[in-house]
Amino acid sequence: MRATVMYGAGDVRVEDRPEPSIQGPGDALVRVVRSCVCGSDLHPYRSLPETTGGHTMGHEFIGVVEAVGDDVHTVQAGDFVIAPFAYSDNTCDICRDGFQTACPHGGFFNTAQSEFVRVPMADGTLVKAPATDDEAMLKSYLTLADVYLTGYHAAHMARVAPGTDVTVIGDGAVGLSAVLAARQMGAERIILMGRHTARTDLGRQFGATDVVAERGEDGIQAVRDLTGGHGTRAVLEAVGHMPAYVQAYSVVRSGGVVSRVGVPQYEEAPVGFGSLFGRNITLTGGPAPVRAYLEQAVADVVSGAINPGLVFDRVLPLDQAPEGYRLMDSREALKVMLDPAQN
Ligand SMILES: [Zn+2]
Repeated sequence: MRATVMYGAGDVRVEDRPEPSIQGPGDALVRVVRSCVCGSDLHPYRSLPETTGGHTMGHEFIGVVEAVGDDVHTVQAGDFVIAPFAYSDNTCDICRDGFQTACPHGGFFNTAQSEFVRVPMADGTLVKAPATDDEAMLKSYLTLADVYLTGYHAAHMARVAPGTDVTVIGDGAVGLSAVLAARQMGAERIILMGRHTARTDLGRQFGATDVVAERGEDGIQAVRDLTGGHGTRAVLEAVGHMPAYVQAYSVVRSGGVVSRVGVPQYEEAPVGFGSLFGRNITLTGGPAPVRAYLEQAVADVVSGAINPGLVFDRVLPLDQAPEGYRLMDSREALKVMLDPAQN
């Protein structure tokens, strides 16, 4: 099969790799209908040291079940399915608490930008969705593998509820998804911090009430000016770099919550009196347990309540995955979908 392989920073190739097969009784084999490039794939794209063997890429996919092992009961060949970016048993204490990305028996997909994926623990991982060939619906489905529900997780962990005021930091696909999710949860005022007009326009369409293009001290001041000097009760941070963290605790209101879903590119950060402690700030967030939110999200997409697929602004054949990385790295594209059936 064709698969996307990264050999080092800026070096992405599509090449032939062995097709996966059922290895255990809990496995499913899924033919990929659509995959995509993630903002988090850009970290290795910018920094991966040169390797000889290469790393297969991709953790977001939707597809059709081709075959299942003897112990799989919730899906069967022919089912259209959405895969969370992590697989999990969905039965252990941690999964039942709703943190499937930390399942001790689970793991993360890393071969989704290809034609077929082996899914371990299929019963605990895959969720069926009504089959469709509608391109807009496929786009929305694919966001449920990661981006939309990562944004949703940020809002969920920040306990966004009707009337909550929210600041979202980052105008990438996850930040925009966080806007949409916060709006779904009834947030009233949503301040989106981002400086790419095409993206913040989509943010407004998703429910942002204010856009702050300034960054750093100016950005902090702008949010304070909009909120009577106090900041917002919830701050959803969808970037992952230190300046975004500083911005987050600087615009959260005393007693509020900073919820991070941008993968932190740091281990050490301020948590003392001047940042979190002095104003009773809660810090939360982490890899989104997409599986916990997936069934409801499928229903919301099918009913038309949400249209998160609007974050995809480019569709390329799988063979052009390297171009997809380039377009996202250069910010020419917000999010690139890959279609294995196109040539
Ligand atoms: Zn588990």
